[in-house]
Amino acid sequence: MLNEDVEKVLITEAEIRYKVTEIGQALSADYADKDPVLVSVLRGGVIFLADLIRTMSIQVTIDFMAISSYGPATESSGVVKVLKDLEEDIIGRHVIVVEDIIDTGLTLGYLLRNLGSRNPASLNVCVLLDKSARRILDNLPIKYKGFDVPDAFVVGYGLDYRQKYRNLPYVGILKKSIYEEAEKSSGGID
Ligand code: 5GP
Repeated sequence: MLNEDVEKVLITEAEIRYKVTEIGQALSADYADKDPVLVSVLRGGVIFLADLIRTMSIQVTIDFMAISSYGPATESSGVVKVLKDLEEDIIGRHVIVVEDIIDTGLTLGYLLRNLGSRNPASLNVCVLLDKSARRILDNLPIKYKGFDVPDAFVVGYGLDYRQKYRNLPYVGILKKSIYEEAEKSSGGID
C-alpha cells in the first residue's frame, strides 16, 4: 500500500481542497476578462492544475510543457531541455505558470526566461508548495502560493518518487528507508 511508505502527512486532502479553492477565487478575480493561459509542467503539475481550474469561474486556456533537467537527480542544475513545448502562441497573452513545488527555483527560473522571451502580456507564477529552505534563485514572481513545506522529500498530489505516489490525495513526507534502499542500487531522487 502506498500509505505505508509515508512517514507523515503534511497537508491533508481537505486542507488542499480549501487552499486550491482560495487560489482559484483569487485568480478568477485578478484575471477576469483576460482569458489567461495556465501553463502546467508535466507531469507533477497536472493534478493541481486540474483541481485549480475547476474552482475558477472565468474563461481560461490550459497548456502544457514537458522538460527534463540535466545533472544528478537530487540536484537541480537549472539546465533544462524542453521535451514538449506549448501549443498556444502566448504573445500578448496573460500567462500563469502552475507548478506543484518550487525547490531551488532553478527550473522555474529557466521556464520564466523561456516564456518571457515570447513577449506575453504578463507572466506570473502559481505554486502549491514552496520549499524555500533550499532556494537558490530568489526574486521569482510567485504571486500565488499554497503552502510552505520543510526541507524534506514530499510525495502525493502529483508529486512522485520514481513515478509512484502521484495519486495520493494528500502531501506527505516519504519514509527515508524507501529512497535510501533504492539509491543503494542506482539513481536518485527526481
Ligand atoms: P527546482 O529547480 O525548483 O529545484 O526543482 C523543482 C522540481 O524538483 C519540481 O518540479 C519537482 O519535480 C522536483 N522536486 C523538488 N522537491 C521535491 C520533493 O520534495 N518531492 C518531489 N516529488 N519532487 C520534488
